[in-house]
Amino acid sequence: MSAITMRELTKVYPGGVRALDALDLEIADGEFFALLGPSGCGKTTLLRTIAGLEVASGGSVRIGGRDVTGLPPGKRDVAMVFQDYALFPHMTVRDNIAYPLRIKKVDRRSRGSKAADTADELGLSGLLERRPGQLSGGQQQRVALARAMACHPQVFLLDEPLSNLDARLRLEARTFLKRLQRELGVTTVFVTHDQAEALALADRIAVMEGGRIRQVGTPTEVFRRPANTFVAGFIGSTPMNLIDARVHGDELAVARARLPLPDDARGQVTDGERLVYGIRPEYLDYSPTAVPGALTGDVVVVENLGSVSLVSLDVPTDAADAGEEAGGAGRSSVQVVVSEGGEPEPGDTGWAVPRP
Ligand code: ADP
Ligand code: MG
Repeated sequence: MSAITMRELTKVYPGGVRALDALDLEIADGEFFALLGPSGCGKTTLLRTIAGLEVASGGSVRIGGRDVTGLPPGKRDVAMVFQDYALFPHMTVRDNIAYPLRIKKVDRRSRGSKAADTADELGLSGLLERRPGQLSGGQQQRVALARAMACHPQVFLLDEPLSNLDARLRLEARTFLKRLQRELGVTTVFVTHDQAEALALADRIAVMEGGRIRQVGTPTEVFRRPANTFVAGFIGSTPMNLIDARVHGDELAVARARLPLPDDARGQVTDGERLVYGIRPEYLDYSPTAVPGALTGDVVVVENLGSVSLVSLDVPTDAADAGEEAGGAGRSSVQVVVSEGGEPEPGDTGWAVPRP
């Protein structure tokens, strides 16, 4: 059993940076869990505090029901893979993988055979006598993983494990990592600033901002039901459109459009209430001809994304509905994903229609 529970976990660095701010989080046994957030939000600090490489300023960490808050790294039964892999350049692959076993005083012979077994599982058998400098980035990453696995820890902590690989290798390594984690079933916490990576790999994701957790959920939950505008803006290959709106009976006044109130908002809102309407560019259809009630404006930019284009409309809003206090004297940028062949030209007038 190796669930991880953090309660009011706080880390204040000397100098006063509050990197973790009374953070509560539960990671289930065997889960592949992503910590996602922009640079500087505290992801590495959280990982290092779980590992015991940073001492918490307050709160607690439990691993497998055991309070490890005051324990040194070696007593926590966790293994961490660092962003830059931190391999020993003067040691062979075999010695790198066997290193933690040496620290644990495993005898030389079983060290060698355990290192060879782990290397075998990760497809590194032919490389045991090489040094890190003679390996590709992808191979170095596997050696770092092998070194972490060799001790059979209860918990894997991976800090941006794929960020040093080029785009093609990263996709390969992603698939590899996911398969490996499934096979081993070890509780794994991995840090990334790449929302696509988190969505593709994780069982659940915690979205962090400023040392706090803004939402925890499955990839589908954080993508479809972001809990706040921060998560809405951070998740998705194109940011969600967020437009000031007002409830009018069973309709929403969004800019000058009147859209049906989404089913799950019924009963949750009151007539006249102001709110932010969020819709993903993928869930809007573009029309070059007028559609009654739809969002409309002039096409400003058409960006080619490969098989689709991203069209930005400059949508005028009525000050009354946009909310003057939101700086709403009058315009919103609305983005729509348009499939190949249907792209407008800048200067055209277009309509954006939410998919039913
Ligand atoms: P992330 O991994 O999400 O980019 P970090 O955990 O590295 O974020 O950093 C969180 C905050 O703590 C940042 O403001 C960073 O500058 C600060 N920080 C990180 N490490 C230290 C340190 N050793 N001393 C002082 N401040 C630090
Ligand atoms: Mg970091």
